[in-house]
Amino acid sequence: MKAHDGMYIGGEWRSAAGRDVIDVVNPVDEQVIGHVPAGTAEDVDAAVRAARAAFPGWAATPPAERGARLAALRDVLVARKDEIAETVTAELGSPPQFSQNVHAAVPIAVAGSYADLVTTYAFEEKHGNSTVYLEPVGVVGAITPWNYPLHQIVAKVAPALAAGCTVVLKPAEDTPLVAQLFAEAVHEAGVPAGVFNLVTGLGPVAGQALAEHPDVDLVSFTGSTAVGRRIGATAGGAVKRVALELGGKSANVILPSADLAKAVNVGVANVMSNSGQTCSAWTRMLVHRDQYEEAVELAATAAAKYGSRIGPVVNAKQQARVLGYIEKGVAEGAGLVAGGPESPGEQGYFVSPTVLADVTPEMTVAQEEIFGPVLCVLRYDDEEDALRIANGTVYGLAGAVWAGDEAEAVAFARRMDTGQVDINGGRFNPLAPFGGYKQSGVGRELGTHGLAEYLQTKSLQF
Ligand code: NAP
Ligand code: MG
Repeated sequence: MKAHDGMYIGGEWRSAAGRDVIDVVNPVDEQVIGHVPAGTAEDVDAAVRAARAAFPGWAATPPAERGARLAALRDVLVARKDEIAETVTAELGSPPQFSQNVHAAVPIAVAGSYADLVTTYAFEEKHGNSTVYLEPVGVVGAITPWNYPLHQIVAKVAPALAAGCTVVLKPAEDTPLVAQLFAEAVHEAGVPAGVFNLVTGLGPVAGQALAEHPDVDLVSFTGSTAVGRRIGATAGGAVKRVALELGGKSANVILPSADLAKAVNVGVANVMSNSGQTCSAWTRMLVHRDQYEEAVELAATAAAKYGSRIGPVVNAKQQARVLGYIEKGVAEGAGLVAGGPESPGEQGYFVSPTVLADVTPEMTVAQEEIFGPVLCVLRYDDEEDALRIANGTVYGLAGAVWAGDEAEAVAFARRMDTGQVDINGGRFNPLAPFGGYKQSGVGRELGTHGLAEYLQTKSLQF
């Protein structure tokens, strides 16, 4: 992949206002693989102006035509799938198979879902003597992280474009190359100039300028709680809309009637995939005390099998952070049954697949998001205890429940304070709303609920 040395603004690659660049590093070997420009407030302003200028035309474009552009975008993503997977592997370090099956494939499904949805969605409703129009909110500022770098872009841009909004994207500094590739795809798909704009850069510079820009109508952010809180406060002060997707500490609740081996094995796979860098990962496994020893053994064996099959984490800072959490868990009394706080290689930001046993609910590792391949196994006494532990964090993004009987699992899931629950290993559904209860965020992505985020109502009374 070839890095662009400019910003994609108003339908063309333009020189950046400043001269600073960001090094893009391959986390497997720590080599610099490219540079992208580090955008400033000036670049952000140019991009917002382009988005504003394009807004009336795009908002007035019939939904079927917006859908046709999204279908074309999906087709370009399909045609360039290998290139996308290779790019994500190069800048995130994820294993090639995972890049193909998840990082490249999921965005195709999501772009396709909005190409379809927009053609059937009711942008007009009748309620008694009123006609209600669902109109696009305006210019969207999208700020995305690196862990699912293309998915997180498409999960914002596709519904925004479907709704008739225009977008300025500031992607994560660690994964800007796939964002540039996405801008090329948008261009190839024939999306009109200014409807989508890309400014690469650092969070506290370009990201902050975008979040604070007075002509942005909605800020959609995915990332850390610390940054999300600031963005929410800024948006609140300006009375503009905001969507925040801030991660979690999800519980995998294994009820006594479940198939224990299956629940543990799928649970371990869930945490190790993408090297644990998944906001909805089930990082707390909850097991009944009578089955606890067996579950820990199964988990340790399963984790050991991952060995060197998982990729590194994204950068040196994340590696140090994750290893620090493992040390902290041990210091607070957890037992190390797989992996550990030593980095496994001389080179690359690797972390061994790690399982911490005898974790109690108040420990730091049971409360804070680690964002690495680290599973905590907790013991519960009875169902009420399991529910208290499952709901006992500030987060509420996702979760899982396993039981012999589906109805039993559903009854438990309905009592969890969380935005989505997988029942007995239920599969990811790109049409289901994704988002959190409590401090996991505000707003929803994907499907019709994700589209509604980018619309506002206008009621006409007759
Ligand atoms: P982050 O700083 O919150 O990054 C997310 C995005 O926000 C990036 O594009 C980032 O730019 C940008 N940003 C940073 N500071 C900003 C500011 N002041 N104003 C506007 N935008 C700003 O997250 P991180 O540092 O990459 O990761 C730290 C932790 O966050 C992880 O360990 C994990 O716990 C959590 N996290 C959660 C998710 C999730 O999916 N919920 C995703 C990633 C990380 P830069 O890339 O330049 O920093
Ligand atoms: Mg950051």
